[in-house]
Amino acid sequence: MSTLTIAELEQPLLQTQQDRLRDKFGRAITDLRLSITDRCNFRCVYCRSGQGATPVHELPMADYARIARVFLSMGVEKIRLTGGEPLLRNDLPALVEELYAMRTMDGGRPDIALTTNGHMLAELAEPLKKAGLSRITVSMDAVDPEIFARITRVPRSYDRVLAGIRAAKAAGLAPVKVNCVLMRGWNDDQVERFAEFAREEDVVVRFIEFMPLEEDKVWSRDLVVTLDEIVERLGKVGDIVPLPPNFASETARRYGFADGRGEIGIIAPVSHPFCGHCSRVRLTSDGKIRTCLFSHLDHDLHGIMRRGGTDEDMAAYIKQTVDKKEERHHIGDVGFIKPARAMVQIGG
Ligand code: SAM
Ligand code: SF4
Repeated sequence: MSTLTIAELEQPLLQTQQDRLRDKFGRAITDLRLSITDRCNFRCVYCRSGQGATPVHELPMADYARIARVFLSMGVEKIRLTGGEPLLRNDLPALVEELYAMRTMDGGRPDIALTTNGHMLAELAEPLKKAGLSRITVSMDAVDPEIFARITRVPRSYDRVLAGIRAAKAAGLAPVKVNCVLMRGWNDDQVERFAEFAREEDVVVRFIEFMPLEEDKVWSRDLVVTLDEIVERLGKVGDIVPLPPNFASETARRYGFADGRGEIGIIAPVSHPFCGHCSRVRLTSDGKIRTCLFSHLDHDLHGIMRRGGTDEDMAAYIKQTVDKKEERHHIGDVGFIKPARAMVQIGG
């Protein structure tokens, strides 16, 4: 795929520690969310519109690989592949293999993660693990096939997603994380059932507060099931205990059950924002940097490549863009304006 040799892939750009990516608020940028397509085979109500064709934006995989290599040379340590639905790209295992051959600024292997809807995961879990994937998150919004179908607007995928989760575990991608976006009136009755699911399937279930990033503009505060409410409901399933974060910029608040079986995470960007320790930047599938999910600006990194820019030109552009990273999002503030692009186009 790439014309670079293994030795060149392993060669960092040899920048100094002072060049390590940091925004003007002092936050170290160590985490790149890399969207490799904005196509999707689902139409989740909280993300995509229920109807209409949408134009496809995809770059050659070699371009994403080059962009990733430049970010890794600047202090990024984790790359999460996302979309749209990333498993729709045929050559995904080859991209993972290429990323795994790269080196971070400190000379280590990058941590490569993937977020998927799981529909095609049963067949791909093992090749992805073999290619070097470290971790996987599967989105699943109900433990009930009918509710699942209503939310994803796909009639018969529930069993496939479940098989995908089990295949990921069997391939050694544990701990598998299962993301569930809760929406009042749609799947808020699934909290207790997911707690049991986490314990039975030995996965980490993570509830996510619904954010105003959907194409259909249905978001309202009333639809958000908040962290406090989720914690209260989990308490009815069993004694839950808060667990320490795995790392400083972890977005999920972690909870375990007193008997040690099952783990729950709650990601609460609406009721308990975590912008102060945000370590992320995003690259959209058309090669634009997004410094925040709620940015109103795209920064055209791929434009630099198209015009024949060098890796150093790209690094300089990344540095100046990261400097513009927003201090925080403004969901719920008076005058909040929803970004023009939806989650499916930004990359979650
Ligand atoms: N298609 C893949 C999937 O669904 O896992 C990857 C892309 S999806 C945009 C990434 C994550 O964003 C998913 O876990 C999804 O549930 C979450 N997401 C999408 N729209 C959201 C919204 N409006 N609020 C909160 N989370 C959202
Ligand atoms: Fe597709 Fe993922 Fe968005 Fe659902 S959440 S529509 S699976 S991109």
